[in-house]
Amino acid sequence: MNSRTVTLTIDGRSLAAPESATIWEAARTAGIDIPTLCHDPKLEPVAVCRVCVVDVENARTLPAACIRQVEEGMNVRTDTDRVRRARRTLVELLEAGQPPVDDRRKSVEQDELAHLGAQLQSDPSRYAATCANPPLEPDLSSPVIAVDLNACILCDRCIRACDDVQVNDVIGRSGKGCETRIAFDNGLPLGGSSCVSCGECVATCPTGALTDKRLVDTGVNGSDAGAYGSGSTANGSGSAANGSGSAANSSGSGAYESDAAANVPGADPDATLGGSGTRQVDSICPYCGVGCGISYHVRNGRIESVTGRDDTHTEGRLCVKGRYGYDYAHHPQRLTKPLVRREDAYPKQPLSADFEDYRDFRRSLRSTEWNDRIREVFREAEWDEALDLAARRLLEIKKTLGPGALAGFGSAKVTNEEAYLFQKLIRVVFGTNNVDHCTRLCHASSVAALTEAIGSGAVSNAFQEVLETDVIFVIGSNTEDNHPVAASYMKQAVARGVRMIVLDPRRPTIADHATRYVRFKPGTDIALLNGLMHVILREGLQDRDFIARRTERFDTLEPFLARYTPEMASRITGVPPSVIEEVALEYGRAERAMIFWGMGISQHVNGTDNARALISLCLMTGNIGRRGTGLHPLRGQNNVQGASDVGLIPRFYPGYQSADDPEVQKRFEAAWDTALDPDSGLTVVEIMHGALDGSIAGMLMMGENPFLSDPNMNKVRKALQRLSFLVVQDVFLTETAEFADVILPASTAAEKRGTYVNTNRMVQIGRQAIEPPGEARLDGDILIDLANRMIRMEQGESGPRWAYDGPESVWEEIVALTPIFQGITYEAMEQDTVVWPLEEPVLFTGDFPQGRGRFTPVSFAPPDELPDDEYPFVLNTGPVLEHWHTGTMTRRARALDAISPEPFVEMTPGDLKRLGVEAGDPVSVSSRRGAITLKAKSSGRVADGSVFIPFHFKEAAANILTNDALDPDGKIPEFKFCAVAVYPAPSSD
Ligand code: SF4
Repeated sequence: MNSRTVTLTIDGRSLAAPESATIWEAARTAGIDIPTLCHDPKLEPVAVCRVCVVDVENARTLPAACIRQVEEGMNVRTDTDRVRRARRTLVELLEAGQPPVDDRRKSVEQDELAHLGAQLQSDPSRYAATCANPPLEPDLSSPVIAVDLNACILCDRCIRACDDVQVNDVIGRSGKGCETRIAFDNGLPLGGSSCVSCGECVATCPTGALTDKRLVDTGVNGSDAGAYGSGSTANGSGSAANGSGSAANSSGSGAYESDAAANVPGADPDATLGGSGTRQVDSICPYCGVGCGISYHVRNGRIESVTGRDDTHTEGRLCVKGRYGYDYAHHPQRLTKPLVRREDAYPKQPLSADFEDYRDFRRSLRSTEWNDRIREVFREAEWDEALDLAARRLLEIKKTLGPGALAGFGSAKVTNEEAYLFQKLIRVVFGTNNVDHCTRLCHASSVAALTEAIGSGAVSNAFQEVLETDVIFVIGSNTEDNHPVAASYMKQAVARGVRMIVLDPRRPTIADHATRYVRFKPGTDIALLNGLMHVILREGLQDRDFIARRTERFDTLEPFLARYTPEMASRITGVPPSVIEEVALEYGRAERAMIFWGMGISQHVNGTDNARALISLCLMTGNIGRRGTGLHPLRGQNNVQGASDVGLIPRFYPGYQSADDPEVQKRFEAAWDTALDPDSGLTVVEIMHGALDGSIAGMLMMGENPFLSDPNMNKVRKALQRLSFLVVQDVFLTETAEFADVILPASTAAEKRGTYVNTNRMVQIGRQAIEPPGEARLDGDILIDLANRMIRMEQGESGPRWAYDGPESVWEEIVALTPIFQGITYEAMEQDTVVWPLEEPVLFTGDFPQGRGRFTPVSFAPPDELPDDEYPFVLNTGPVLEHWHTGTMTRRARALDAISPEPFVEMTPGDLKRLGVEAGDPVSVSSRRGAITLKAKSSGRVADGSVFIPFHFKEAAANILTNDALDPDGKIPEFKFCAVAVYPAPSSD
């Protein structure tokens, strides 16, 4: 870092600036505005527009301030007549080819060129004939971005944003002279290109050339009013809209369900977003654990658009979900009244039993028709009736069968405060530790291994430190689809010279940016990792000093690894011995290396052993406790870290304080003023097994959809049917809610205030942008209300009352009980970036929480269910970029649904040929647990003998096929490996 400063004068003010600064940066720091068009502080300056020219004393010409570095004694004037004349001429030339003002897609406030022209009183008519090509037709082929090349000034901001920031490499230039254009994949329509719709280009475009399409009607701008159904169409009762699709929408439902949505998704290309009347609310993306900072732009009570916040750790970057996946909050199928199952709807019918039916629904899966079919089973109720019924029935079960017959699934989508209240409700009022959430299905095995080895399940280093490392080691992570913005930092690091090794049985798209990709046989991670460690030891690349000072039991590992020669590892993994040696040398020789892993590691019956091997690899090379090193299991949902931190897991109270430790238990009994369950609680899959065998009879589920998310779905269906009483608290009528006795309408992230913890352990505030619809309530309020009713029914009026004054007061209670959050306040979070533990972005710089890091040798063992003659393929499941978990939110976000509307099974061209199937043909995929039918997709990302199915789609639910065998330590199911058969299926069309 250069710390030398120079002194210069800008507009008569004497300033000090780093000698590496440009004039533009020095002026900006001093609050002096120099206009730019082609420059964006996030991008490398290129000085192509030159409107930032300034007068530098003794300079022959006017230099561009965005690239000219400051010098000692420099005297700069930013607003002389000469400067103004030059800028005006430049702006007039750029404005000359712009569309007429009425045809522009941005208001003058938003259009930087128009804004600057107005400031400079420009007269573009002087240059109107410079380029006399006829206007180009707008490119509206993308579901979310409108392209008007007539407004493009060739500033290259979009090209640099796409190439240098998000590193997607889609946009370039084509043509010469007046024919020069920005081009997508060398000349494709944007919608047909490899664009991933991150919107970074839109965010930086200074004119109306690249703009967001409108996805939600906000009741303004006459051209689109009513185009897509207003909020009054809630629950499908409103009028149809979007005339082009009305014929297809015979049910008269809102436009979300019409086939027109397939055309696009919607958006009104003529709409102008933003401008006056729009309110901005800073918050956090509700999807993945990256936790990007967003701003909601709200007009007339509806979210009009979302933009990234430059001031946050993700520097304004977003992916397609964060930028364009917000409109689910306004979906007409939102639950707006409590629902109670009708008397005549018992015994519970398997509404989702006939999976073949789903094929008929295809594009209309989220249709009002389907929604209404489920709704018929329920009747609307008042909140008092629904909550009293829930409280009474849950207490009856507690009284007759004991607290252990009750359980709760919380959610990694809700705030820390809500997750805390949920686990407190289950432990204190239900009286059991049977509380868990979807972390069990993601990284429970990683946390088990980390806790055992170093005493903490937390990630050690932020993902942004990839920019400071030498080698990035990514294994079992589909990072570009699952954590797109984290992936952008990895790709950026590689572009700057960092090496990245991606290891995965299925080639994820991040591997396309890696310096090395290693494909290995599914389920052989341990053999591969042991082989790498064998070579590291053989070559003497271990960090002896680190091992001696900071670890224990290395003596158990060293002899154990002797047999894992590259040749032996190669026989198991299919990776050539020379590749194993090269990867080991590359990682072992790195001064700093970071390990990232995802569910390809954790979702196996030996997921904990997989993670143990990764931890050993990290410890033996001393790659922890410094910047640019560390262990990072990439967290899935937006608040899966926080939900675990505040105790939404059975064996730990908030802050990972053991529920099995009598001393800890006493402390929490004193704090919560009640006796607590001394028994260990059950985990997600164990609770489902309990429901199936009758030992779990009553459940509360908040924001979870286990019917689709848990393995072996037919078994889960039977389990849910067997529950005596199920309360579901959610924003939509999920597939799990079909089995509910009472459904409580809750709120989305945009409707609430509270805190979330991202994958870097950052604690951030999410803020309320809109009101919950109808009678939907905040999750925290529902939990408090239910708790108080149950306490009153059980203990009478003299029982304790839960009383909180908003999320801040819940947070104060959490902090008082949770050492890891000490010192973290809302005030601190409002002002700055906060991580837990406070001011420790890099963990384990000294001792590990348990003292020394522990090596645990692990042997390779095969997956639970291997392919055979009957089921010869290996099934791998995972996400696609546009969807999230069971699709409850993303499949109701019109742009995301339009881009990724249906399920598929990925197979190699060779396997398709052997089956006699063409890409796009229907195939039946079956396992020992069930069968689904879906379209075949030809792909080189999988290997021969392997297939991949995304898990978001209920019409071809991958979890009908998956195996519910559990990892013995993490209790995580083996989602990533089971044996399946694939056959051609008759077309249903
Ligand atoms: Fe949201 Fe994750 Fe995408 Fe960021 S990377 S915008 S947090 S889904």
